[in-house]
Amino acid sequence: MEAGRLTMTEAEGREDAFAVLRRAMVEQIERHADRVADRTGRAAISNPVLEAMGRVPRHAFVPVEMAPYAYLDRPLPIGSGKTISQPFIVALMTDLLGIGREHRVLEIGTGLGYQTALLAELTAEVFTVEVIGELARDGRRRLAGQGYANVSFRIGDGSLGWPEHGPFDRIIVTAAPDLIPPALLQQLKPDGRMVIPAGLEDDQRLLLVTREAGGRLQTAEMLPVRFSRLMSGAEAADM
Ligand code: SAH
Repeated sequence: MEAGRLTMTEAEGREDAFAVLRRAMVEQIERHADRVADRTGRAAISNPVLEAMGRVPRHAFVPVEMAPYAYLDRPLPIGSGKTISQPFIVALMTDLLGIGREHRVLEIGTGLGYQTALLAELTAEVFTVEVIGELARDGRRRLAGQGYANVSFRIGDGSLGWPEHGPFDRIIVTAAPDLIPPALLQQLKPDGRMVIPAGLEDDQRLLLVTREAGGRLQTAEMLPVRFSRLMSGAEAADM
């Protein structure tokens, strides 16, 4: 046997260290979920979501200089003035969606693709829309680099949804509008769920919108949150 075989490469050592940090992050998410259970109405984040968070290499979805901080339970800058949400919030939003393998899932706000990767772990087909071309291209490259082949990308205004591929069983929005965009409600199937932060700059709430089998919409308010704004209209068209 070659002696070299036994030596861990530097890259392998790094991945190992990240795996340890990732397990600690998942434990931190579980504790955080427990602390706010009375406000979220859920005692715990479900296992499939925690397991997916234990697999997705968050450090591969942040700028390289942020990689050492990738497994802290904190939001991080991803460039273009945008941020990737705190892992607990990502876990909660993903859990609230209640994704099944058979669901057609739409994500608005690809960013660098961390949330997209989690969705791609949990369902067969993900559709994601990002308004900033540079982020969209970077996110796409990162997702491909991690082997995610079940994601379709679009650059454009996500407040219009993606009608050509709709309607959707699940919709997740990772930027906050003042009001829920009507196109997204229209593209939500019966029995569908949407998780979206909404409200004025300093008064955003995480919302869970459900469309009953008969078509009626119901909205439940979750935690106060702080997301960057969902662009719309001329502002989004100019990007
Ligand atoms: N989900 C991302 C973080 C996204 S930050 C991640 O996990 O990394 C919010 C994202 O929403 C930003 O990338 C921002 O450019 C995008 N965004 C804002 N308005 C948008 C719109 N109208 N349509 C699509 N994306 C939008």
